[in-house]
Amino acid sequence: MSQDRSYSFEFFPTKTDAGHEKLLATARTLASYNPEFFSCTYGAGGSTRDRTINTVLQLEKEVHVPAAPHLSCVGDSKADLRSLLTQYREAGIKRIVALRGDLPSGMGMASGELRYANDLVTFIREETGDHFHIEVAAYPEMHPQARNFEDDLKNFVRKANAGANSAITQYFFNADSYFHFVERVQKLGVEIPIVPGIMPITNYSKLARFSDACGAEIPRWVRKQLEAYGDDSASIQAFGEQVITEMCERLLHGGAPGLHFYTLNQAEPSLAVWNNLKLSAQTA
Ligand code: FAD
Repeated sequence: MSQDRSYSFEFFPTKTDAGHEKLLATARTLASYNPEFFSCTYGAGGSTRDRTINTVLQLEKEVHVPAAPHLSCVGDSKADLRSLLTQYREAGIKRIVALRGDLPSGMGMASGELRYANDLVTFIREETGDHFHIEVAAYPEMHPQARNFEDDLKNFVRKANAGANSAITQYFFNADSYFHFVERVQKLGVEIPIVPGIMPITNYSKLARFSDACGAEIPRWVRKQLEAYGDDSASIQAFGEQVITEMCERLLHGGAPGLHFYTLNQAEPSLAVWNNLKLSAQTA
């Protein structure tokens, strides 16, 4: 790929055959935009283990886009993780998104042997050397369980120092939080690319619920406007598209090294933003 910024799309593995077919159809559509990679989430504790593996292998071998499995360490033993790394390596996978993960409620306390994502990055490097390009998560608005912002920055630096090659952020709706985070970690000596994670806005109630859980702040003016649209999904989508496009323009203009779209397995919302940004021209 000739572009110097990294554009990528994230999927989640589905439970049904119909959902899986839809995911593949979405991936085929997005493949024609020449992304750097696709990624596929992993249910912490191994709840999606087989589905994540199958999805990643299909994206790589059948849709012909480099695919990166997410891998989380809470709830998985070192032996589980080692076996996954071996499978991925043997299948020619070259990139991994390394996370601590969050166990689904009801699965009890974390029981893995590795506690934090920096431990997982160290483990992957010990087991597989430089084979994988390792992505880690970054939180411009602070991870919700962090003691404070400074602590969270230092914990991010641990992941970079453990051998991460680049990072993808939690989604946010305030470009300043991203620029501030990047500036702060750069002052702490981190130079890896930090790619903004972009969540298209399509449904207000789901977004509000999810944002509360992951600590992403929806600015009051955006929230109030979305609330006012009520059930008018066409207006929500048009407004959401405008807000996200303008934020992405600022991010790219300000030097962001790419964009990672949380597609939720749908092509259209991400592509609407992509087309507004005229990114196709960059990949031509
Ligand atoms: P860590 O970096 O380990 O941080 C977790 C918390 O512990 C933070 O508060 C941090 O400040 C603190 N901390 C970190 N290291 C230390 C240390 N050494 N000592 C003390 N405190 C420390 N979840 C899934 O389950 N599956 C997925 O596929 C998935 N994909 C994601 C993709 C992206 C791009 C992002 C941004 C998140 C994803 N998540 C996923 C969610 C993620 O797993 C959660 O946010 C989780 O709570 C933290 O994961 P982490 O890798 O950032 O953890």
